[in-house]
Amino acid sequence: MNNRINVTRSFLPNKDIFIKYVDRIWESHHLTNQGPLHEELVKKLSSYFNNTNVTLTTNGHLALELALKGLNLSGEIITTPFTFVSTTHAIASIGATPVFCDIDKDSLTIDTNQIENLITDKTTAIMPVHVYGHLCDTERIDSIAKAHNLKVIYDAAHAFGVEKNGKSISQFGDVSMLSFHATKLFHSIEGGALLYNDDALVETFNTYKNFGLENEETVECVGFNAKMNEFQAAMGLSIFPHMQEIIEERKQITMRYREHLNSINGIHCFTPDTDSSVSHNYAYMPIIVDGDVCGFTRDCIFAELMKHNIYARKYFYPLTSDFACYHNLSSSINLPVARRAAKQVLCLPIFNGLAVEVVDKICESIRQMSN
Ligand SMILES: *Cc1c(COP(=O)(O)O)cnc(C)c1O
Repeated sequence: MNNRINVTRSFLPNKDIFIKYVDRIWESHHLTNQGPLHEELVKKLSSYFNNTNVTLTTNGHLALELALKGLNLSGEIITTPFTFVSTTHAIASIGATPVFCDIDKDSLTIDTNQIENLITDKTTAIMPVHVYGHLCDTERIDSIAKAHNLKVIYDAAHAFGVEKNGKSISQFGDVSMLSFHATKLFHSIEGGALLYNDDALVETFNTYKNFGLENEETVECVGFNAKMNEFQAAMGLSIFPHMQEIIEERKQITMRYREHLNSINGIHCFTPDTDSSVSHNYAYMPIIVDGDVCGFTRDCIFAELMKHNIYARKYFYPLTSDFACYHNLSSSINLPVARRAAKQVLCLPIFNGLAVEVVDKICESIRQMSN
C-alpha cells in the first residue's frame, strides 16, 4: 500500500549525460549569469521553437512577471480564472488588475466571444492560457488585440512542443511563457522561458531579469533577479534529447486511458487529438465528469481513487477568482462555464514510467463506480 501514485512524477534524464554537463560547470567555474550551458540551452530551444528569441528565467512565474514588466504594462489585463494561480498573481504583482473572462465550454481556454465586452480604456493586454496544452483560438485573440492595440502574453506553461499547422507556440501573440518546473513536460528542476519574435525585447528582458543593470554603473528600470543558473541549464540540456520519447510514451498512456474510458457514459477524455492540424504533447490527462449522466461526481472519483492510493488532482479547482485575494473583483462574479469546469474536471496520473497495469487499475476503479 505504500506504492502511492501521484498525478505526475518528474522525469529524470540519463545520469551520465547530466554528470558530463556538471563536469563542464567545474571546468568553466561559471555558475550563473548567462554561463555557457545557459547559452547552449538558449540555442537549442530557439531552433526547436522556429528560431524565435528565448530568454531563460529562474522559474515560469518570474518569466510571466518579466514579460509584463518588460512590455511596461499596467491598468487592466484580461485573463481567465481556470488556471494555476501563478497567472493571476503575475498580473497583480506588477500592480495591474486582473479582469476575468469566462472560458469556452469546448476548449476550456478563453472565450473569445466575451473578450471585447471586457475591454475598457484601461485595458493594456490579454493574458490567455493554453490549458493542458490545448491551444487558444490564437487567430481570433490576435485580431482582437490588433483592433484594440493590446499586447498578448500567452501562459504556455502547459504547451511545450505543441504545434498547429506546423507552427510552434512561439508564433502566437507578442510573448509566450514556458514553465520548466520539475512537474512540467520539459524541465530544468525549476526554470522558465519567454519566447518572442521582437528582437528589440532581447535587451529589455535581459536587463530586467538582472536587476535592471544596463552596465555596472547604470540602472534605468526597476529590475529584479530572475536568472537561470548553470545547474538548471544542465538539467534542461540533459532532458532535451529525450523530448520525442517523452511525448511518445505519454501518447501511448493517453490512448490506453481513452480506450478504457471512452465507453463510460458521462466521462469525457479531454485530449484534443481529434483536430489533426494540432500535434499535441500529452502533458496532462484531464477527464470531464458529467455527474448528471454517469450518476457520480468528479469528487466521488477523486475519493475512490484515493482509497487505492492513487492521487489524481482537481486541476483547476478552485478558480483563481475564488481565492480570497481576488474574489472581491467585480469580474469574479459571473463565470458560469469556468465554474462548471472547475467542478467537473479531474487530472488522472500521467508520467513517463507509469505502468500500463496502473492505468488499467485506475480505469477499472472508475468503471466499477458506474455499475
Ligand atoms: C506551472 C505553471 C506556472 C508557473 O510556473 P513555475 O515554473 O512553477 O513558476 C504558471 N502557469 C501555469 C498555467 C502553470 O501550470
